[in-house]
Amino acid sequence: MAETARRLVLASRPVSEPSPENFRLEEFPVPVPADGEILLRTIYLSLDPYMRGRMSDAPSYAAPVAIGQVMEGGTVSEVVASKNPDYKPGDKVLGQTGWQSHAISSGKGLRKLDPAAAPLSYALGILGMPGMTAYFGLAEIGKPKAGETLVVAAATGAVGSVVGQIAKIRGARVVGIAGGEKKCAFAKSELGFDECVDHRAADFPTQLTAACPSGIDVYFENVGGRVFEVVAPLLNTYARVPVCGVIAQYNAAVGVQDANWVPTLMRSVLSKRLTLRGFIVSDFYPRYSEFASEVVGWVKSGKLKYREDILDGLESAPRGLVGLLRGENFGKRLVRVAPE
Ligand code: NDP
Repeated sequence: MAETARRLVLASRPVSEPSPENFRLEEFPVPVPADGEILLRTIYLSLDPYMRGRMSDAPSYAAPVAIGQVMEGGTVSEVVASKNPDYKPGDKVLGQTGWQSHAISSGKGLRKLDPAAAPLSYALGILGMPGMTAYFGLAEIGKPKAGETLVVAAATGAVGSVVGQIAKIRGARVVGIAGGEKKCAFAKSELGFDECVDHRAADFPTQLTAACPSGIDVYFENVGGRVFEVVAPLLNTYARVPVCGVIAQYNAAVGVQDANWVPTLMRSVLSKRLTLRGFIVSDFYPRYSEFASEVVGWVKSGKLKYREDILDGLESAPRGLVGLLRGENFGKRLVRVAPE
């Protein structure tokens, strides 16, 4: 009897907050590679905020996942069968094979991983897409200088934790914003941030103002929504705002707006000559070696700390994504689909 594989497909589109019922678990026979192809067994699946966007068919920079299609996602996999001379069984690869236990690939777009160089899962986090996001958002837009104040929200997450630590290496004073006392304590004691403020605290605006006595020179925007409303008045003249993500706004029903603060913001963009520049990490994929030349060494030497939040089993992916959008993750969220 053929071995059974499993996949999670998008069953319906959420209107606001997604739920596990938006996905459907399906079984299918483990596919057989044709000439030139390889069969992959998924080990780790990355869960990332952008996945909320792929569940929606609202206009965006990337096409939505179709109803009935396997949910998109970054993966670390092992080659289990190969009819492609470039790959052999046992090779470990980084790919974008989605929420499924097995996948067929032509090899295009895969990157081979060296398990001796770093834990395999790091390729989906600090040494992969989120790490590159932090690195290039800072290098190209944020450009923190020694002595400047940098603020980053979602501070203990995959992107934010790296942003703050690199900014510290560059000599900036770093203030994190995170959800809850535990995350804030971690940002200071483990990640080495100078301050961290809880955005859920009733006096969050007062606390953030006190934590930034010289204002904010770089605000790495991961969150948007209310957090940005509190940050905006503290931005200094010539402040830089890499607009990386607005996770607090991802679950908003399309077309619903309560954005009375936008005109105020636009006035400060003009009067303070602010630079708000959006970016998408894939713009920088061709510059992977530049990123790796600095970050791999920092990770190996322990200069950069990294925390993972790993769920077990493919079936945990839907609630894992819903929880990520609520801030339930503590560190880079992944699913261990199968043992290494
Ligand atoms: P994280 O690991 O930081 O996890 C998401 C975190 O966001 C949660 O843990 C929570 O942290 C915070 N959060 C969720 N909802 C809210 C809310 N309503 N208000 C405030 N904070 C909230 O995710 P990533 O590091 O992977 O992603 C961070 C941001 O970067 C996202 O906006 C994402 O879309 C963006 N991104 C953009 C890329 C690009 O190419 N532009 C590439 C990769 C990521 P807490 O509990 O601390 O508030």
